[in-house]
Amino acid sequence: MNIRFEQTQNPKPKPPQDALFFGKYFTDHMFVMEYDEGKGWHDPAIVPYAPISMDPASMVLHYGQAVFEGLKCYRAGDGRLLLFRPERNFARLNKSDERVCIPHIDEEIALKALTELIKVEKDWVPSAEGTSLYVRPFTFSTEAHVGVHPSGSYKFVIILSPVGAYYPEGLNPVKIYIEDEYVRAVKGGLGFTKAAANYAASLRAQQKAIELGYTQVLWLDGVERKYVEEVGTMNVFFIINDEIVTPSLEGSILPGVTRDSTIALARSWGVKVTERRIAIDEVYSAYEDGSLKEAFGTGTAAVISPIGEFNWAGRKFRVADGGIGEISARLYEELTGIQYGRLEDKFGWVKEVL
Ligand SMILES: *Cc1c(COP(=O)(O)O)cnc(C)c1O
Repeated sequence: MNIRFEQTQNPKPKPPQDALFFGKYFTDHMFVMEYDEGKGWHDPAIVPYAPISMDPASMVLHYGQAVFEGLKCYRAGDGRLLLFRPERNFARLNKSDERVCIPHIDEEIALKALTELIKVEKDWVPSAEGTSLYVRPFTFSTEAHVGVHPSGSYKFVIILSPVGAYYPEGLNPVKIYIEDEYVRAVKGGLGFTKAAANYAASLRAQQKAIELGYTQVLWLDGVERKYVEEVGTMNVFFIINDEIVTPSLEGSILPGVTRDSTIALARSWGVKVTERRIAIDEVYSAYEDGSLKEAFGTGTAAVISPIGEFNWAGRKFRVADGGIGEISARLYEELTGIQYGRLEDKFGWVKEVL
């Protein structure tokens, strides 16, 4: 595959590493590839980062055929640039795309596109503690046509954003609001995908949680509002007695790469990890009888996010005394250690770009 390269004439100043925030700055170039019916995916190119012009009738604006992914590129202490299980993200992109009728993308081509783009933008990968280059691949429909059917044309784009440490003052517990009115997804729907529509459906509840002083919502199942699903942008884990439990993947939950890595890592320590349905009453009873030891979320952005407090229909309950549990802290240390190349990569998860 030949990727056309057009160098920017206006390189941007790089933001200071201590003021990166999340998703605010974008690098000088982006990767773009087009799809047209009869032609397939074509014209892969790395071009200057710039607005994309669209017809007002572009189908994505009306029917929402749009999917995204999120992963990070880490700068190791010795300067190497590392990706964490990137092939998983491109495999998931195709699973999501398939669900909303966006055509399949060759995963090797996608990974090659990403590594080439990172090589062009290598000076944008920050080096300060906890910083990284966030990678946002996405696909969307472009055909100009008002009428509900799959589009005949699409774009696949990758943009990059240098991001700051998720916890500038060290690992911090979050407060989570258990949502029992709105739902995120139902089996048979889009829950297992990173389709943009899922996030549109989540915003109202997220806004409500923030107004009430919580960081994110914990979703319950869409039928009975009884079983735990996941947090807004994270999968969720509980430690009850000595066992780690997490909801099983049954179609309405996003299969997180961090979730999968957490399960494998904890099992490698000899800790029992069970994937099963977990009723919210069971979590509350475990809190009441003292067997709920820790709770945490997993996702690319925060890696491990210890949960210090829940609010379930007005009942507030604290976990790990509102602090950080021992296993949560160890998972965070070891996962980030592997991602930044500080610890041995026993699982073969890390891919070196440069
Ligand atoms: C992205 C995401 C996650 C976490 O997935 P990772 O692959 O670990 O980053 C979990 N839940 C939802 C809803 C997400 O969008």
